[in-house]
Amino acid sequence: MADMEKENKKIFEENYEEKIPYNRKSVDRIKRAILCMGAVLIALPIYIGLYTMVKLNNLNDRVNDMEEKVVIELNTSLMNPTGDQLKDKLSENSLLLDSGVNGDIVKTEVAEKTYLGSSMENTNVKNGKTVYLTFDDGPSEHTAELLDVLKEYDVKATFFVVCNPDKSTWPMYKRIVDEGHTLAMHSYSHKYEEIYASEEAFIEDVNKIRDFLYEQTGVECDFYRFPGGSSNSMTKSYVKDLIEYLDGQGITYFDWNSLSEDAVNLSLSPEELNANIMGYVRANAGNSTVLMHDIDACENTLTALPALIETLRREGYTLRPIDKNTVPVQHISYNKE
Ligand SMILES: [Zn+2]
Repeated sequence: MADMEKENKKIFEENYEEKIPYNRKSVDRIKRAILCMGAVLIALPIYIGLYTMVKLNNLNDRVNDMEEKVVIELNTSLMNPTGDQLKDKLSENSLLLDSGVNGDIVKTEVAEKTYLGSSMENTNVKNGKTVYLTFDDGPSEHTAELLDVLKEYDVKATFFVVCNPDKSTWPMYKRIVDEGHTLAMHSYSHKYEEIYASEEAFIEDVNKIRDFLYEQTGVECDFYRFPGGSSNSMTKSYVKDLIEYLDGQGITYFDWNSLSEDAVNLSLSPEELNANIMGYVRANAGNSTVLMHDIDACENTLTALPALIETLRREGYTLRPIDKNTVPVQHISYNKE
């Protein structure tokens, strides 16, 4: 009996001794498992979060790249006429639809020759990326909105204005000046047959618009653009005399080397107008002077303006108003003797 008890005790002790370490190991294992699971539960969301962020960033970069590619492809396909096409456009005798400033003015006028003459090439500043936006024939019913857009984008432009017989537009002359744009002359009447009837008639018209603008704004204008440009077909024989007169008055005349063709073809969409401009601007060796029109019929010029400004800026161009230091684009060269 005593032996049995001894045996039982031994068995019990053996089991006991064995069981204790066995239980401890299990607890330790469970503890470790719980700790591991805890660590995984904490680490997993962090890892997933980081992984998602990296992936999103990559995707974003790829989308940006693709967007840029699309823009560049669109630009090259839609907005980049070949050199030959540009030359054709600038050298063609185009019909300028000129709705003018009132109903009296002949709706369709003969246009002028605009060509890439040697004088124009010489006037290009070769290192420049400056673009001068110019609006002819205003003020019109769109002038206020044009000024609003320019203000919104903090862009200064140049307005080659005439005398609009509609007096309700007259506050625009002052607003152009007050908002930091360049007010420039584009004749008083814009009637070719009157302005270009004789040298005297031309001089009279220049003085009329200069005085009128001084009365309206208190500013003496020193910049002029010939209606139809300096290469217009009506003053061929004596345009140099007119230029000489302007020069004697301290007036510099400006033509253009880029245009939207807004007055050539009134049905052009805003996208087409901008494509035309960008084609010229990109092809010019240096700075660009862009011809647009501020007339009632050219609503699309207003509509196109925000996208034009954005495209020019995206491509690294600086937009400036014409000033004393601007090298003028001129189709007819005039050498002082
Ligand atoms: Zn004009």
